[in-house]
Amino acid sequence: MAHTIPNFSLNDGNTIPQLGFGVFQIEPKDTVRAVRTALDVGYRHIDTAEMYGNEAEVGQAIRESGLDRGDVFVTSKLNNGFHRPDDARKAFEQTLAALKFDYLDLFLIHWPLPTLYDGDFVSTWKVLEEFQRDGLARSIGVSNFQVAHLERLAAEAQVVPAVNQVEAHPYFGNEEVRAYDKTHNILTEGWSPIAQGRVLDDPTVVDIAEQVGRTPAQVTLRWHVQRGDIVFPKSVTPKRIEENFAIFDFELDDAAMDRITALDRGEAGRQGPNPDTFDYVPS
Ligand code: NDP
Repeated sequence: MAHTIPNFSLNDGNTIPQLGFGVFQIEPKDTVRAVRTALDVGYRHIDTAEMYGNEAEVGQAIRESGLDRGDVFVTSKLNNGFHRPDDARKAFEQTLAALKFDYLDLFLIHWPLPTLYDGDFVSTWKVLEEFQRDGLARSIGVSNFQVAHLERLAAEAQVVPAVNQVEAHPYFGNEEVRAYDKTHNILTEGWSPIAQGRVLDDPTVVDIAEQVGRTPAQVTLRWHVQRGDIVFPKSVTPKRIEENFAIFDFELDDAAMDRITALDRGEAGRQGPNPDTFDYVPS
């Protein structure tokens, strides 16, 4: 059956499909095939990053699909070594060149890196404001920003980020950041939505999946979309790419939602690094 993916309005008036396809850890040699499969299935939102090393292949897959550029929402992110304004400008140019696009739908600061660059992510953000003014990034946002980082942008910058892309899944609900986002008109995007597979054999998730006749991945993704977050699960497996798309023809009741939400392990549930201390810069 055809699945209709909701489009959410961003705070700048643009729209974004709630469900997308993530390409982190997809080898460049596998990226064209995976993205083509996703586009064939019906995904119209691709989440990549300069750090993933596969922007060129994402652009190629979209061109080969025959879809219009305007039919696919594409996000990329500023890599960690490029926070200084001039470096950020060059890195963004390279991202557009790799994708062979003349604009991006959404460009994010990948990590705040508060322990590097004298803790100054504000001047980096102001360069993203420039890209948006110039029409080269239709929307701009951040990733892995904690509440304190968002508060600083609110105090020192002009534009409120359209999205904040942060780790979120049943073992790490990230509630404080989500609550800040919500009250400040920032949409939350949840990365590693199935915790890279770690939540799929959780007894509660498996039990709910059996009750509703869906897979654990579908139930977990459905929990995210009912919370109102944007997600883009990654897979190189065609059957899973299809399965992850088929989540808009069933609902979880409040009891099932609450049981999944109760799996939150707080900080201990994180899959990835803590943004307050993460300082990885690719060499
Ligand atoms: P996900 O939570 O999407 O999990 C991906 C893993 O789960 C892969 O190993 C995949 O295997 C497996 N999988 C996918 N679907 C199924 C299924 N239906 N059943 C069983 N296993 C499944 O992890 P990601 O870390 O990739 O997160 C998603 C996206 O979020 C990334 O691709 C990226 O776009 C973004 N992200 C952003 C970050 C940031 O800092 N901003 C950090 C991390 C991710 P296989 O591929 O072998 O099928």
